Order: sequence, then structure tokens, then C-alpha cells
Amino acid sequence: MSQKIFIAGEWRKGRGDLFVSRFPADGSINAELHAASLEDVEEAVNAADIAWRAWRGRLAHERAEVLYRVSDLIKSRSEELAALQTRDNGKPLAESRGLVASAAATARYFAAACETLEGELPTQRNAEVMTLSQYEPLGVIAAITPWNSPIASEMQKVAPAIAGGNAVVLKPAEATPLLALKLAELFEEAGLPKGLLSVLPGRGSVIGEAIVCHPKVRKISFTGGTNTGRHLAHIAADKLIGTSLELGGKSPTIICEDADLEQAVKGVAYGIFSSAGQACIAGSRLFIHRSRYDEVMTRLEEVASNLRVGHPESPGVHLGPLINEAHRDSVAAYVERARQEGACIRVGGEIPQDEELASGSFYLPTLIDGLSHESVVCQEEIFGPVLVALPYDNEDELIGLANDNVYGLAAGVWTADYRRALRLAAILEAGTVWINTYKTFSISTPFGGYKESGLGREKGRKGIQAYMQQKSLYLGLNHNPNPWCD
Ligand code: NAD
Repeated sequence: MSQKIFIAGEWRKGRGDLFVSRFPADGSINAELHAASLEDVEEAVNAADIAWRAWRGRLAHERAEVLYRVSDLIKSRSEELAALQTRDNGKPLAESRGLVASAAATARYFAAACETLEGELPTQRNAEVMTLSQYEPLGVIAAITPWNSPIASEMQKVAPAIAGGNAVVLKPAEATPLLALKLAELFEEAGLPKGLLSVLPGRGSVIGEAIVCHPKVRKISFTGGTNTGRHLAHIAADKLIGTSLELGGKSPTIICEDADLEQAVKGVAYGIFSSAGQACIAGSRLFIHRSRYDEVMTRLEEVASNLRVGHPESPGVHLGPLINEAHRDSVAAYVERARQEGACIRVGGEIPQDEELASGSFYLPTLIDGLSHESVVCQEEIFGPVLVALPYDNEDELIGLANDNVYGLAAGVWTADYRRALRLAAILEAGTVWINTYKTFSISTPFGGYKESGLGREKGRKGIQAYMQQKSLYLGLNHNPNPWCD
């Protein structure tokens, strides 16, 4: 039976093409669904444009209450949601559980942010006027998400937008529609009024484009590739609306000469190989001080070759499959290119030979060196389990190399010297710098990219204000406020 989609508060068959959601581990079918059509977009945006005007008038604690309930529902169904996420995108169950917990925490955090949001009193009262500045919603938000961490990235947009009094039309990635639809079910169960959330699966270039171009959409909140983000920024510029763009990365990780190598190597492996490297923040370029280079590479070879690649529903698996065969082929093509450019493939560099994995889109964790930093493999985002390592001799050289990339999403520094750590953190062109840890997150800490990794910030207390606009009020206190024509 075809899975229904959520249009303007109703569960219906989409009026678009038939889509199949497949389990990346073996290609089996998770669900069939009809995508949204252009008529569905029209209906969803029009309903959203009516719904937010009522929603904005509700007390903050009433809006927050819905998000608290969503958070509780997620927690009570966390196993079911994690299993669904694993079926949808092939992440190992342990990782899916982490993302589900993060989605619950995000809903709760923005409920609290909503209840405690305050306007501003920009100046002290003076004889002439008193001024106030208050936050108001923007209206209809287009939320467009990628396939790599669906439940977390979707909640990161929907929760602050709904908390801020807006309505959301969400288009999940083609490959992973199921979690977004499940979230819609939970929001509905939590009492979100009809029309405030629609979930419209479909092709980005058709349905995504129609949503963002719709004249009633007042903000584009996008997570995905840099080329798509750039295109959406042009649309937003034409419409004169705001965007929040969370884009790609090619993040450097640095192992200094004084680093605790055991910790550093484990952190580097986690930073690149978890999620099979399909993470915007993957630490995919590794700079190692030349004095420790051989030692680090030997340790990394050992760790990488012992990682368990396997069925994502089996316990103890480190790397599941890549999202689909086309993406696996693109990762393999990058490794092939590295080979042709004379790289040394120290570990991996191929599809696993295991018969049991033959029908899934798996790729082995891969460690490469021997390339110059200008090479394509050092510069472009591969979005797979491929780590490229380079030695460096001194800090000036290191900084030049680490910042020599169009992206600026994240960076990692492993060192025992806090002065060095903070010096490097200050000069690295990245929206997040991890020091003696990697890929750890807190919902209260803003996240976003420098350079071509994005615009704007998600999360943190100001995350809700990203979906609001300020209105200033002037209260005249003078008995003759405008004496101009006396
Ligand atoms: P993508 O850009 O191909 O697609 C992302 C979403 O945009 C999908 O839902 C897609 O259907 C939609 N889309 C495509 N064309 C569109 C258009 N013309 N109009 C509207 N929507 C359109 O990215 P992807 O392959 O799904 O995801 C991988 C990329 O996402 C990587 O580059 C990764 O680094 C990035 N990413 C960034 C972050 C972050 O927070 N910075 C997080 C996760 C992923």
C-alpha cells in the first residue's frame, strides 16, 4: 500500500510520481509513496499561510506545550524511530538512536526557548520616547533537508520555526522521506493545529523549487550541498527573503606534535568514519606534525582496518552502507582519481568482498596519503569514508593548508597545549572548532559554516530568532511630540 503524505493537515496520497524508499543495506523496499505534486505544494503553502496567523496569537507556553509533547512522544517511541531511520538511510542503529535522542532534546530546548524569549527595551526611558523591540514570526518557512541525518536535521528546523509562531512546509530528501512523515504524525498527535506543518516528499528540482519559489514563503531554511544552497540563495535574493544555509564541508583535523596519540587517533577515526563519512562535519583532511606522522599513520591503519563494516541493524557495526549505489560509485570514483594522481591507499579503497554485503552499497573505510594539497581529493567534499592525510612542519604552513579550502564548516585540533589550541582555533576558518574531541554536539551551542559552508546559524538560544523578525515600537511621552508645524 502506498504511504500517505501530510498535506495541509490531511494524510493523503500525493498527486505526484510514485517513489520507492529502499533500505541501503540490501535494496529491499521500505515503502512506496506518491510524491507531492505542484497542486499539493499550492495547497500546503496556502493552508500554512492561514494557519500561522492564528498560531502567532497563541500564548508562548501553549506553543511550547506542543513541542514538549513532541519531545516526550519521540522519547517514548525512540526504538521504533531509530529502527525507521536505520531502514531509511542505513546508519548503524547506535547512531540512529543518538539522532533520535537529539531530536527529542531539540524539541524540548526550543520549547524552553519559546517560553523564555524576551523582547528588548533598547533605550532607557527619556523625556521624548520610550522604545521597545519585540520578536514576531516570519510566516511560512520552506524547510529543505538532506538524507544523511533526517530526524535531527528536520527537527533542527521545524522546532524553532514552530516555536517562533511560524508554519513549515518541509521537503525531505528523495532518499529519506519516512522520518519526516513520522515526525508529522508525532506533531499531529501532540496537538499541532492543522496546516502548520506539511511534509511534501518529492524531487528537489520540482517540488523543492516550487516550495521555495512560492510567493507566500518568507524564509528558506536549507541543509544540503553547496551548489543547491547557492541556487536557493539566488532565489531568495530575487524574492528578498532570508535564508539559512547549512552546506558542505571538507574539515581539517590537526594532530600536533604533543597530542595524546591514542585519543587523537580514535577521535580522527570517529570524525571521518562514523556515518560512513556521510556527515557535513566529517574530518576528511588530516594534518599530522611530521615528527609524529609515521606513528599516527601506523595507528590509524590499525584502527581503520579493524572497523566493522556491516549490516546496520547488527550490534557492534561501525560503518553501515552508503545511501545508494550512485553515491557509492561517486566515492569510489574519487578514490580512483587519487590512485591515478599517485596516492598511496594505506587502507581500504574498495568495496568489501563479503558476500553478505553484496546487495548493499557498502564501501570500506579508506586512508590515503601521498597527495599534494591542491589535488581534487584534498579539496572536494567526497561525503564518504575517505580520509586523506598530509604531514606539516610548522604552524604557519599548517594554517595556510588548513584554511586553503572553499569550505569552512568545522575543524579539529589535538594538542596538550591549551595556548596552541586556542591560537589555532582563533585562526582556523571554520564555524565549529573541536579541541581534543570531535563531532560532539550541544543544542545550546550555535552551529553553521564559514565561507561556502553556509550562511546563518542553527541551534542555540538565538536559533528561534532566526525564524522571527523584530518590530520596534516608539511610545511618545511628550505632550507635544511633533511641534514641527506649530
Ligand atoms: P542536495 O543539495 O543534493 O539535496 C538537499 C535537499 O535539497 C534535498 O531535499 C533535495 O531534494 C533538495 N533540492 C535539490 N535541488 C533543489 C532545488 N532546486 N530546490 C529546492 N530543493 C532542492 O544534498 P544531499 O546530497 O541531499 O546532501 C548532502 C549534502 O548536504 C552534503 O554536501 C553535506 O555536506 C550537506 N549537509 C550539510 C549539513 C550542514 O549542517 N552544514 C548537514 C548535513 C548535510
